[in-house]
Amino acid sequence: MTFLFDIDNTICTTQGTDYANAKPIPEMVDIIRDLYGAGHTIYFITGRGFMGGPRRWQAVSKMTRKQLDEWGVPHHGLYSKPACELFVDDKAVNATDFRLIVGLLGKEPA
Ligand SMILES: [Mg+2]
Repeated sequence: MTFLFDIDNTICTTQGTDYANAKPIPEMVDIIRDLYGAGHTIYFITGRGFMGGPRRWQAVSKMTRKQLDEWGVPHHGLYSKPACELFVDDKAVNATDFRLIVGLLGKEPA
């Protein structure tokens, strides 16, 4: 399967736009490692820096890739998305429900 994950307050806790001090959520990092290890495709999308244009995205995506590496989060790609208040998608599940679903499959939800 191909999984598309948001970053802030999905795989890490982030206060506002303080991206540099985001803290990884260990349960989500473990889940993503397991999915990656099982051969699934892992993409990330983020609204970080979206309003700042291509130059801002270049800097923010570099910092975000560094964070993902430091947190030990394997992935196949990182993409920009428009910042939004509500994301509507026919294949979407929110981060809390995702953790509950995975919990049913053997991982304890936080
Ligand atoms: Mg988010």
